Formats: sequence, structure tokens, C-alpha cells
Amino acid sequence: MTDPYGRALDYLRLSVTDMCNLRCVYCMPEEGAAQLPREAMLRVEECVRLCRVLAGLGIRRVKITGGEPLLRNGLCALVRALALIPGVEQVTLTTNGILLGGFLSQLRDAGIEAVNVSLDTLNPAAFRRIARRDGLEQVLQAIGQAYATGLPLKINCVPIRGLNDGELVHIAGLAKERDIAVRFIELMPAGRAAAFQGLSEAEVRAALEAEYGALSPFRGRLGNGPAEYYAAEGFAGKIGFIGAMSRGFCERCNRLRLTSAGVLKACLSSGRSVDLGTLLRRGADDGEIAEAVRELVRRKPRAHSFSARYGAEYHRADEMFRVGG
Ligand code: SAM
Ligand code: SF4
Repeated sequence: MTDPYGRALDYLRLSVTDMCNLRCVYCMPEEGAAQLPREAMLRVEECVRLCRVLAGLGIRRVKITGGEPLLRNGLCALVRALALIPGVEQVTLTTNGILLGGFLSQLRDAGIEAVNVSLDTLNPAAFRRIARRDGLEQVLQAIGQAYATGLPLKINCVPIRGLNDGELVHIAGLAKERDIAVRFIELMPAGRAAAFQGLSEAEVRAALEAEYGALSPFRGRLGNGPAEYYAAEGFAGKIGFIGAMSRGFCERCNRLRLTSAGVLKACLSSGRSVDLGTLLRRGADDGEIAEAVRELVRRKPRAHSFSARYGAEYHRADEMFRVGG
């Protein structure tokens, strides 16, 4: 599948739930959010069927996300089935890490090949302020366990002024002794995140270089996304930046997003989407579903519209916990 801008689409972010056991201030309302009725959520076999059609069109890697994907019943069965789809080369997961420790061996057995853990702070009080729940200890334990099993691991941190900007150096330091990637993601003003001020890649980089010395670009391949990676002197792992707002982040976009309700989205910030779940439940065959996907791909926007830099159409983005980030 190639879109009108010549970008080959081979990566799917698959959201399996809109529920979460944290309430990160920039992502979810404190009281939680109206959940999708159970019957509106794709069943495991429906998810697998849509992914099979997407793999037939060129999707090669699937990242499972949410909400918090480890809250989804039947997750390991889903992973197992996705990993067996012809054409799917890699199934990975992104999680807040709270439940990860208890799932590690099942996930590995089912075929998960890498995990991203979100970690915005190393301070228990700040964790409570940001996530509005306790749980830092569990997350750090799960990171240690996952690393010990040899599972490829990335840590994702969203730097936000006044919330965690004082500890980015320490968070980056997690990659010093361990061969993991610590990545800093620029905050996108989706939903409630618009009330916060994210730090730019340049600001974070300057803070890290003041502490660790010059970061040198790493040219090897690490992951499937828009991150730029750097090596630091004496570090076993890498530092990554996802310059969602300050870079030409969209030029190499290779992704589609499927929500837990079966809506396929062409872009994080665009209303252009197609309801594959409803199509499937109306009895559409695989050919009709594939044609609906192709039609959406023909309408994929050139760039997200979170920043004036792109100027394009603006759509009040779906909130991140529904689309999966
Ligand atoms: N609950 C899981 C987790 O936290 O990893 C998966 C879903 S979460 C929406 C995926 C990622 O999106 C997390 O790393 C989170 O920090 C990030 N995220 C949420 N809102 C964001 C925003 N407005 N801008 C940038 N990243 C965001
Ligand atoms: Fe939940 Fe992830 Fe959103 Fe935090 S960022 S509220 S963990 S979905």
C-alpha cells in the first residue's frame, strides 16, 4: 500500500481497549471516560480478520496499544493469532507497565517481540501527580524483569513543563547501564494535552548534552517509527527523540491506526477514517474491506495538523487513549 505522497504503509497501531488503569493528566480525565459498550468493541476474531486483510495489503508490523492493552481480555490469544498471520513479521506492545510483570512470560510465549513502556518520571510523588495513581514501583520492577528476559525494550517519556522537566537527565540515565532505548516524545496537543506545555526535542537534547556530553547520531536500525536515535559516551543503550511537533515527522509516515471499535484512521489528527468494524458486521467480504482500506489510503493526509507548521485541515483529534497514541 502506497499513499498519494509515495509513503509505503506497512505498520499498524492496533488499539485493543479504551480502558486504562492510570489517568495521566495529559491523556485521560480524572474520573475516567465513557467507555465503548462491550458489544461495540471488536472481538478477537474480528480483529484478527481485519489484520489479515491489512496484512494482505502490505502491513508487516503490528503494535498493540490502547488505553492500557494489558487490561484487554484475550490479549495473549490475540497476539498469538496476529503473529501467525501470513505477512505479519512482528507483533509488539506498548504499555504503561503496571501489569506487565505478570504477563511477561505469556506475552513472550504468544509471540510478542518487543515492548515499549511509558515512563514519565522516576519519582513516586510525581508519578502520583502525573498518572493520578500509584504504581511506579511495579513499573520499574516490570522494566527490570523484561530486560532480564532479553526482551527488546524501549522507554517512552513525554517531557512536560512543570511535571517532569527536572528529571529528564535521570530518565535518560536508564540507558546508561542497560542496552535499552529511552525516547523522548514531544507532546501533541490532542484532547486535554492542549492544556500542557511540552518540551521541544532541542530543549531536551540540550539538557542531556549538558550532563552527558555530545550525543552522536546513531545510524543503525532501531524500531519502525519516526524516532531519531543517538549514542552517548559510556552508554550501553540509546537515546531517541520523536519530534512530533518540531520535525518533519510526517514525511516518512508508514502507519495506519485501528481503534478498538474497528475504525481505521488515516492519521492521528485527521477525521479521515473508515468504519471497518461496521462493514465487517454487515457481512462485507475481504475484498470489500480491502477496497475500503485502499480508498482511505488514497485520502491519507500529507501531515498531521497539530502544528501551524503544517497548516493542513484541522480535526479535533480523538483523544490519545482512544486512538492509541
Ligand atoms: N497506555 C499505554 C501507554 O501508556 O503506553 C498505551 C497507550 S498511550 C496513549 C501510548 C503513548 O502515547 C504513551 O507513551 C503516552 O505517553 C503517549 N501519549 C499520550 N498522549 C500524548 C500526547 N498528547 N502527545 C504525545 N504522546 C502522548
Ligand atoms: Fe493510560 Fe497510557 Fe493514557 Fe496514561 S498515556 S492514561 S497509561 S492510555
